[in-house]
Amino acid sequence: MKPVRIPIALQQAVMRCLREKLQQANQQLGTDHPEPVLLYQQRGTSAGTAWLDRWEIRLNPVLLLENEQRFIDEVIPHELAHLLVHRVFGRVPPHGKQWQWMMESVLGVPARRTHQFEVTSVQSKTFLYQCGCQHHELTLRRHNRVLRNEAEYRCRRCGRTLHPAGDTPT
Ligand SMILES: [Zn+2]
Ligand SMILES: [Zn+2]
Repeated sequence: MKPVRIPIALQQAVMRCLREKLQQANQQLGTDHPEPVLLYQQRGTSAGTAWLDRWEIRLNPVLLLENEQRFIDEVIPHELAHLLVHRVFGRVPPHGKQWQWMMESVLGVPARRTHQFEVTSVQSKTFLYQCGCQHHELTLRRHNRVLRNEAEYRCRRCGRTLHPAGDTPT
């Protein structure tokens, strides 16, 4: 996967939200938690992850680029709340009552457990092909090469060329 470049303005918007929410939490809790490390290297369909022991938040750069402010408003408080809950309460269920309290009473945002983003662009798709004897799953990359007539794939068992079994990704 190629690294995704996040425009500076978007990175600044992320930092603004993070600092604002952290300051809000520190004021409400009477604490002095430092700014978490922020990395843009979350892959797959997760919007973000909170690394409790590292005090680190990893964001999905593709979903950030696609959803911008909506992503920021939703994912930053969500992941920050995970970090704060771990510091304040230790080991508790990830989206339990402590997390909900942190979200709603401390950070002042609705406590939604899951994110509502369209994830089709970051899903790993496979495409169903067939030869004469069985079905095969081709990656999106190989499927595109077939569509562009750049490659042909053969079944190792029967030796026949693979053809799309249908247009539906599985
Ligand atoms: Zn969560
Ligand atoms: Zn075959």
